Amino acid sequence: MIDNRLPTAFFDSLPALQPGWVWLVGGGPGDPGLITALGLKALTDADVILHDALIDERLLALAKADAEKIYAGKRAGVKSCKQDEICDELIRQAKAGKRVLRLKGGDPFVFGRGGEEAQALVRAGLPFRIVPGITAGIGGLAYAGIPVTHRDTNHAVTFITGHGSDGRLPHLDWGRVAKSAPTLVFYMGRKFAGEIAQVLMAGGRNESEPAAIVANAARPDQSVIVTTLGGLGAAAEKSPALAIIVIGENVKLAEELNWLAAAG
Ligand code: SAH
Repeated sequence: MIDNRLPTAFFDSLPALQPGWVWLVGGGPGDPGLITALGLKALTDADVILHDALIDERLLALAKADAEKIYAGKRAGVKSCKQDEICDELIRQAKAGKRVLRLKGGDPFVFGRGGEEAQALVRAGLPFRIVPGITAGIGGLAYAGIPVTHRDTNHAVTFITGHGSDGRLPHLDWGRVAKSAPTLVFYMGRKFAGEIAQVLMAGGRNESEPAAIVANAARPDQSVIVTTLGGLGAAAEKSPALAIIVIGENVKLAEELNWLAAAG
């Protein structure tokens, strides 16, 4: 007989999503098992779920039968909701007394515009809770066997977006970025991967430095391309669109720590 008292007592002890509240929840990078307990609880309590494009169907299937599921995805190049419309909808639903779950990929506060949504809720005077998630730039790398930090290779890491709000390479001091940490992790970096490699090499990074493109991380179609900084541009052209790019010596661990192949 399965004794489920412990999980039930545990879930009951967690805060509940209340009517008129909005929870901004991170769904993790792909594998539905990577959502947090708070996220799971909110999924089963929510009256309305506004979700991103890449949320696993198995998570959405946990919603109440009468819960309203609203697709509120935002992906480059794909027709999608505007940020203002998403914020307005969160506010409208919460003011109507609904339990509102905003379910975002990865972590809502990591290149996810969760901060803007939270600010809109503050301005509207609405109560909210932030439920962090596992971000693709950490958990996605872990699914490729790449520790984001490793004592022998890097004591620091820099997270960068490779796509500016004007749709171009972000206007950063790339010389400084190149020197910022031994390991650099790029979100939204695939499109400009070749340019990114160029500016980093101009900033002093070595073309033979290991680099990896982890696409569809923690999803059934995950793929990992291990290359070098010099080969990054060409490799990115062969990679699926949803990808994290990591540059640094810790990429070398991917082969030894390829646990996913063994786990199946
Ligand atoms: N808030 C999200 C990031 C949103 S920005 C998080 O914390 O993970 C969107 C970018 O995240 C994508 O362009 C890609 O670079 C990265 N990303 C998100 N999920 C991913 C996945 N499963 N595999 C690889 N990259 C992913």
